[in-house]
Amino acid sequence: MANYYIDRPEIGFHLNHPLMKRIVNLRERDYADKDKFADAPVNYEDAIENYKRVLEICGEVAAEIIEPNSEAVDQEGPHLENGRMIYASKTFENLDATLKAGLHGVSMPRRYGGLNLPNVVFSMLSEMISAADAGFQNIWSLQSCIDTLYEFGSEEQREKYIPRVCAGESMSMDLTEPDAGSDLQRVMLKATQDADGTWRMNGVKRFITNGDSDIHLVLARSEEGTTDGRGLSMFIYDKRNGGVDVRHIENKLGIHGSPTCELVYKNAKAELCGNTRMGLIKYVMALMNGARLGIAAQSVGVEQEAYVEGLNYAKERAQFGKKIVTFPAVYDMISRMKAKLDAGRSLLYQTARYVDIYKALEDIARERTLTPEERQEMKKYQRMADAFTPLAKGMNSEYANQNAYDAISIHGGSGFIMEYKSQRLYRDARIFSIYEGTTQLQVVAAVRYITNGTYLNLIKEMLEAPCSEEMKPLQERVKVMVDLYEQAINAVKDMGDVEAHDFLARRLYDMTAEIIMSLLIIDDASRAHELFSKSANVYVRMAEANVKAHNAYIMAFDPADLVSFRAIEQTAEE
Ligand SMILES: Cc1cc2nc3c(=O)[nH]c(=O)nc-3n(C[C@H](O)[C@H](O)[C@H](O)COP(=O)(O)OP(=O)(O)OC[C@H]3O[C@@H](n4cnc5c(N)ncnc54)[C@H](O)[C@@H]3O)c2cc1C
Repeated sequence: MANYYIDRPEIGFHLNHPLMKRIVNLRERDYADKDKFADAPVNYEDAIENYKRVLEICGEVAAEIIEPNSEAVDQEGPHLENGRMIYASKTFENLDATLKAGLHGVSMPRRYGGLNLPNVVFSMLSEMISAADAGFQNIWSLQSCIDTLYEFGSEEQREKYIPRVCAGESMSMDLTEPDAGSDLQRVMLKATQDADGTWRMNGVKRFITNGDSDIHLVLARSEEGTTDGRGLSMFIYDKRNGGVDVRHIENKLGIHGSPTCELVYKNAKAELCGNTRMGLIKYVMALMNGARLGIAAQSVGVEQEAYVEGLNYAKERAQFGKKIVTFPAVYDMISRMKAKLDAGRSLLYQTARYVDIYKALEDIARERTLTPEERQEMKKYQRMADAFTPLAKGMNSEYANQNAYDAISIHGGSGFIMEYKSQRLYRDARIFSIYEGTTQLQVVAAVRYITNGTYLNLIKEMLEAPCSEEMKPLQERVKVMVDLYEQAINAVKDMGDVEAHDFLARRLYDMTAEIIMSLLIIDDASRAHELFSKSANVYVRMAEANVKAHNAYIMAFDPADLVSFRAIEQTAEE
């Protein structure tokens, strides 16, 4: 029987990371639940065994149920009936399977009916479900909206909603509107209060994934007369109260199983979550950071699946009397797909570990005062999580697209034919670098950490870490890359030109991410040579070539050159 967890030891490797012990100890509060809940772990080893059990169950559901259903779901898609969205038939089967496997509300504390799983494990479940069907992963992983409700909602709201999500009710995040996409400060959906204090929402939301869900988190304008982010608050809409209809389901290029809805709010009753005015500034930022990591995991799942599709086809297909996998041009593509997958996955789990540590400490701070050391630890990991999230989302979403493109190339003409899976992966992947903030917006989120030296300091720290003898030559090559990176950052800063800085930001972002992923894969290969040494060799060479090219571009750039680029834009406008 196929199992995406057991068959892919690269996933399980990330459970053995040295930071896991700290994560589990914090998450389990030194195993305080063991006397209250039969399934709570008694120590670290027991917790890891529990995680593995859940991952194995999910690996089987993904490979044996969700993946076999994926083609039918892609073809049928959801439909609209009297203002309600109805999933594709096999989506119901998938939901039933994940529910029976206990895969809902998994991140929530046991007292609400959850499994108390850390983000690292949630991301592993996410990537396996996405490898089986990226569209279904959207529906399933929106359960993570409950993390934001847990963080900022009242105890009454937690008790009301969390058990429902653990029992399989679905969620959505309603942010985007026709005039508010990347710029969410423009949100205009109106929230007003009745005389008795009841909040009501009126307006339209667009492009809402799983928009007919049971429980919505909604960004709305509560402060009349305001036009920016400070007038926005976050609300909970409970479908049981009615008031929101689906007006339209989008007809999309990919992720057909995932319903993308236009919603009309007519006097819909809502509950304020947290304080007014903090909706965008604080709560939606937290919600989006979690969702961005979800898209990074979704992307890794498709990177994996595209690699498997390409490799399997190349091993079977013969031309010129030889299996095509033996042609250097083909194995070059396959080795780069695997290298991007391994490096991208490593970045995903490193980010998830940072998130796990600071979120667990933040949660402990709700129960007791943290020690000064704990506060320092929380701040350190929060900074690193904030810095790494836009890299993990942006790079993995681009890698998923690149791997899906290469999978088609390896298939030749067959790749373009609908019977083969590669075309679906290619269509599905295209949205990853758009929703939850386009790659350009990930660059905007990351650039301050480039200019303030956060990444550079971290990279220098990572370079000090010991590595295996075999990886030392690669580490030396990364040192040269870091010098080129530092030189490029200084050159951009010295230009003293805001537009040139923004124009070159993507190149600095790519350099940052590729150097960090080089160091991560070197570390992985030092600890598990047989799993990662090939990818380390391929990835570092690839990153080295890119870093040199970006350095050359930046060093030869003069802000006066922008005239040529702007001229193209003006010609287009004319
Ligand atoms: C299938 C699908 C599912 C979705 N699911 C959800 C959901 O569940 N909930 C939800 O709220 N939304 C959802 N969205 C909306 C999605 O998040 C937005 O489409 C996305 O953030 C981009 O916004 P936009 O489409 O308005 O593009 P725009 O913001 O108009 O961007 C157009 C282009 O301009 C660039 N750009 C814009 N601003 C800048 C800038 N400051 N710097 C550099 N470049 C910039 C962008 O990178 C892009 O290339 C979904 C969208 C789709 C298609």
